[in-house]
Order: sequence, then C-alpha cells, then structure tokens
Amino acid sequence: MKRNFIGGQWVDGARSVPNINPSDLSDVIDLYAQADVAQARDAVAAASAAAPEWAATTPQQRFDVLDRVGTELLARSQELGDLLAREEGKTLPEAIGEVTRAGQIFKYFAGEALRLNGDLLPSVRPGISVEITREPLGVVTLITPWNFPIAIPAWKIAPALAYGNCVVFKPAELVPGSAWALAEILSRSGLPAGAFNLVMGSGAELGGALIEDPRVQGVSFTGSQSTGRRIAQTCTAHGVKFQLEMGGKNPLIVLDDADLAVAVNCAVQGAFFSTGQRCTATSRLIVTDGIHDRFVAALIERMGQLRIGDARAPGIDLGPVVDERQLAIDLGYITSAQSEGATRAFGGQHRERDERGLAGFFLTPALFTDTHPDMRINCEEVFGPVATVQRARHYEEALALANNTPFGLSSGLCTTSLRHATHFKRHAQAGMVMVNTPTAGADYHVPFGGRKASSMGAREQGRYASEFYTTVKTAYTAA
Ligand code: NAD
Repeated sequence: MKRNFIGGQWVDGARSVPNINPSDLSDVIDLYAQADVAQARDAVAAASAAAPEWAATTPQQRFDVLDRVGTELLARSQELGDLLAREEGKTLPEAIGEVTRAGQIFKYFAGEALRLNGDLLPSVRPGISVEITREPLGVVTLITPWNFPIAIPAWKIAPALAYGNCVVFKPAELVPGSAWALAEILSRSGLPAGAFNLVMGSGAELGGALIEDPRVQGVSFTGSQSTGRRIAQTCTAHGVKFQLEMGGKNPLIVLDDADLAVAVNCAVQGAFFSTGQRCTATSRLIVTDGIHDRFVAALIERMGQLRIGDARAPGIDLGPVVDERQLAIDLGYITSAQSEGATRAFGGQHRERDERGLAGFFLTPALFTDTHPDMRINCEEVFGPVATVQRARHYEEALALANNTPFGLSSGLCTTSLRHATHFKRHAQAGMVMVNTPTAGADYHVPFGGRKASSMGAREQGRYASEFYTTVKTAYTAA
C-alpha cells in the first residue's frame, strides 16, 4: 500500500482505495492510503512549521532540489509513463511525453529560482530609494485533476517550491499512483521535512481543512468549473489568495482558404488525442460553407483510421475514457445531441472490449454535424472524444460563433490568410489562441490559462507563475 507523506514521514490513512486500469478492469494497480481531516490539518501544520526554513534557503539550494527532481523524472520517463498510461488511460507515447514535460518543468523552475527579480526605483522624494522585492506566500495548497496526473502537479509544485513556499498537495482521487511516484521523488530530493506534503483522498472531504486553515496563504486549483467556483467562494470568505484553471469549450474555425490537411490534423489531434480529455480539447469545429463538405468527409475518413484500445498497446491512437462515470457523462451528451436533432456523422459507440479482448471504458470518437450554437452539446464541456461541426457563411460569422461561449481557454483558426490570422489573434476571446496548430498542446515556459469562466487569478507557467506564488514588498530607505 502507498501512504501519504506528511511532515517528512510516510503515514497510513484512515482507509485505502485502489486505482484501476481503465484499459483493463481486471488490473488493480495498487492501494492508496486516504488521509482524513486530522491528517490534512497535520500536513498544513507541517508545511507551516517548515515555511521559515525553506523561505530562508538560497536560490542555489532551491535550484539543486528542483534540478534533481527534474533529472530523475527525465531518467524515469518510460517507467513512470507506463504507470501513468496504466492508471489514466492516455496512450503510452502521450504518457511518456507528459512525464518528460514534468521533468522539463522542474528544470525550468530550478532556473527561475535564480532569476526571480524585483525593482529598484527612485523615490519621488529626495534622499530615498525604493526597493520592490517578491517574497514567498508561505503555505500553499495545490489541488489537481486527473487528466494530467504528473504535468499539472509539476507546474504547481515546481514554482511553489522555486519561489520559497511550502506545499500541501492533494491530487485527484482517480490518479494516486502518478501523484505518489512524484511525491516519492520529492521525498528524496533534499527538501526539509514538511516543505512538501502529499495528502491523498476525497476533495469534498479534505477541501475545508486544506483551504480554510488560517495557516494556508494560497490555493492553486485545476479542475472543473463547479468545484472551482466552490473553492473561489471559500477562499474569498477566508481571505486566501487563489488561482483557478477550469474547463473549456474550445472552438476551431476552418476557413475556405485553409490547407485541408492542416485543418484535419488540427481537428483530429485537438479533439480526439488524449481521448478528448483535455481542458484545451477542440469541441466545436466551426467551418465555412466553401470547405464544409470536403472538410467533414476528410475528417470522417481520418477518424475511421484511428485505433482505439489498451493505452499501453503499440499503435493505439485513443486509449479508454478514464472511468465509468466519465463514460456515462460522454454517452449522455451523445444521446442528448441526437435528441436535439444533431446528425451523428461518426462514432460515439461504447465498446466494452478492445480488439485484444480487454474489458475497459472504450468509446469511439464521435462527430456531430448539423449542430446549432444553442444545443447542449455546443454549450457545456463534455470532456471526452466528442466534437461538433457548425456551419458559418464567412469569417466574421465564424468568429462570432467561436466567441459565443461562457468559456475562454483556447481558440483556434485554420487559414492561409494573414489578414484573418492577425484579426483572430486580436479578437478571439481566449487566453490561448492557436493559428494552424491544434487548440491543445502548449509550451511549458510561457503563460497558460484562460479568461471568462475558464480561469480566475494569475496565470500559471513561465515567469508569470511568480505573480501567484509570491507577494510583493515595497521597502523605502532614506540615505
Ligand atoms: P474536479 O473538479 O472534479 O476535481 C479536481 C480536484 O478538485 C480533485 O483533486 C478533487 O478531489 C478536488 N475537489 C473536488 N471537490 C473539492 C472541494 N469541495 N474542495 C476542494 N477540492 C475538491 O475535476 P476533474 O474531474 O478531476 O478534472 C476535469 C476538469 O478539469 C475538466 O473540467 C477540465 O477542463 C479541467 N481541467 C482544466 C485545466 C486547465 O488548465 N484549465 C487543465 C486540466 C483539466
């Protein structure tokens, strides 16, 4: 059984739960201790006790710890990628790529520990200098979703530690294996006891202890909009700084002048890779009349070539959906789209077994045509391999449809027109804009995040991460 890591010790939980391979339901991977509320409080207390020591470390000491973690993640990307694919269901190449990305993130933030800078300004008054510095927040609670079980924890834990904060990490219930593996590496990285803590268990049960405690100064959350809104209310009520990354309903516009092969590639990768279980997944294809029929035909042909099955088998394009609940949600949207009058142009079938006979949560990628902006399938995040097509008469109408959503995470355009590309980058209502490249798939050294209902608070990733994980101090000195 894998245990929680609190105050530098591995501790048993009140009970334990298994994680199950969604590609093979007979495969129980391991058992994981579930922390109770008292242990969540212990983790906050341990982080709080360690905070002065970790905040006082030199940038070089922080660099060394983070660099060591990054090196080990890179060296073990195959082994940890295999575990990730086995518990979450993304394909093995995607999973290995995610672990590699996590290693790169730790290496990047090792360097950022050395580069955190402030400002030195002249005062408006004579004989005074003004220094602006950034200091750690203190204790931060990091709450993560299941769909990127190593990369999302890495992009919160690495900057938190780089900028001198102590961490309480609460991973998603479905993916404790990847979280535990990352925690195990951190436990041997040279951090003082209590600077990093892992508490596994139910967010609903532990959330109060991890957020409302007056020793917690910041909460960074990635997950669904409904949970995010609840956390925002709690943080606001308790005066805790927060940062939320939530869902998307990401559009990809395909204009008449698009390169057809590029557009189909963007659609397939954006909508269906990682089984569509990405916050930046393309879910609405908005296609102008002149290319609509050719694009839909070419897309359906490519979808027919995608292989669905065991995430760790060679040559698989789409692994399973993560669990039974998510599968039921996806199938519910597929049914509702049909009942609202959309045409199911391809896929959307649940397969109980893959081609080798393994029992898992397999779903063929689904495409709906003849859809309207007000259909439920075009308004709510599905979080599965389901995409819709809407027709538009011209670019202006397509842009209006693309922006017609409460979400604003990623927004894409396929075109060969410089004029439209330039206009789109300016007018797409999204935190990330993609021209001739899929809506999903971002770099790790530049800001990541959305606007409108997709995000709240400071951006994650890149040097912008210091906005959340530090607090600014202004010091006046009279000569
Ligand atoms: P979720 O909201 O169900 O859970 C996310 C985390 O919140 C889990 O660790 C969970 O245990 C915890 N949690 C649940 N209730 C809580 C509470 N009351 N207090 C504190 N913590 C609580 O989300 P999920 O199903 O794990 O992830 C899928 C969602 O994540 C999708 O909506 C997706 O778009 C979003 N997501 C967003 C981004 C982004 O960067 N914008 C990235 C990945 C995923």
